[in-house]
Amino acid sequence: MPDRLRFDATRLANAATASLRAYDPGHDLPALRLRFGAQIAELGSNENALGPSPHAVAAMHAALGDIHRYPDPRGAALKAALSRHWQVDAARIVLGNGSHELLMMLAQCFADAAHSVVFAQYGFAVYPIATAAAGAQPICVPALPRTHASAPLGHDLDAMAAAVRADTRIVYLANPNNPTGTWFDDAALEAFLAKVPSQVLVVVDEAYNEYVDAPGLSSALRLGDRHPNLVVARTFSKAHALAGARVGYLVADASVVAVLERMRESFNLNGVALAGAEAALGDDAHLARVRQFNTHERTWLAAELAQRGYATLPSQTNFLLVDLGREAGDLERQLLERGVIVRPMAGYGLAQTLRVSVGSHEENQRLLSALDALA
Ligand SMILES: *Cc1c(COP(=O)(O)O)cnc(C)c1O
Repeated sequence: MPDRLRFDATRLANAATASLRAYDPGHDLPALRLRFGAQIAELGSNENALGPSPHAVAAMHAALGDIHRYPDPRGAALKAALSRHWQVDAARIVLGNGSHELLMMLAQCFADAAHSVVFAQYGFAVYPIATAAAGAQPICVPALPRTHASAPLGHDLDAMAAAVRADTRIVYLANPNNPTGTWFDDAALEAFLAKVPSQVLVVVDEAYNEYVDAPGLSSALRLGDRHPNLVVARTFSKAHALAGARVGYLVADASVVAVLERMRESFNLNGVALAGAEAALGDDAHLARVRQFNTHERTWLAAELAQRGYATLPSQTNFLLVDLGREAGDLERQLLERGVIVRPMAGYGLAQTLRVSVGSHEENQRLLSALDALA
């Protein structure tokens, strides 16, 4: 009889998996929703408070009629829509169960213990995890200083280009970056690409690109034709408000796509998600409303926070990084006691900051009222 008490499979995990920790969601959201009901302000996950396009919701309802069928394993209809939308060949697109899956797959398919992967300090948390899961060596490049004029705590692209070694297979960039909200413009990306050898995949994660209105910043999708090593990751989770449906995609050279397709789970996107994303992509008017609301509301929220003495970093996203200049854990817990959920950043090494999503106007007001009550 095997002895269940002595059996411990954690010792059997392979080396890469042994180096990982299970995802920590931070808050018990179901419990918090029960406790605070409609009085909750969910500002911790950069979700889009306006919700998805009504056309996307209708398409998802309709797709439920086929839920007994397997979805299209190629996602051909969504890829065709993306191909038309971005004017790129469908053979250059991979669909993911969220872009998170694609960011993981890139490291899994292109790097192993013989390779290194470059990413930035205070860059998106998935990059070091993807690197570790592939068993590759991480090269974490120090961020720009807090005093930097345009991108405080943002990516130091010169230092990142200099950190690339002969064994580097991937550089992960987030533009704009989560959790800092910082960005770099098209010219900076072009200068970076000119410095990095072509056998290094440069992954530009544009999860927040739809929110951008800074002059000089468009999308890396514009540059793909000239740089076969450029990989652009996008998601429907943020501005398109389909976080719960799990749809991401990347645009890359067809040879990169061919490699990723070997590893992709055949039915990684469900049929409801495929239908919702395709409809969301077609609703330009809804996206325009989302963008306009976000820019207006973020500007207002940053000003209201500033009036109360809370400094925020410049942002081109749907969140603000609040820099308290002192340990932020107490404030985070006090807000939580009032049903206001924001994201603590100690896990990122930014213990003096809190990341606050731009919520609905009511949610944002609940945040400000809670801060006033604590003052
Ligand atoms: C939210 C986010 C993603 C997207 O995640 P999904 O898996 O597509 O929901 C990717 N990159 C960054 C930087 C993000 O903040």
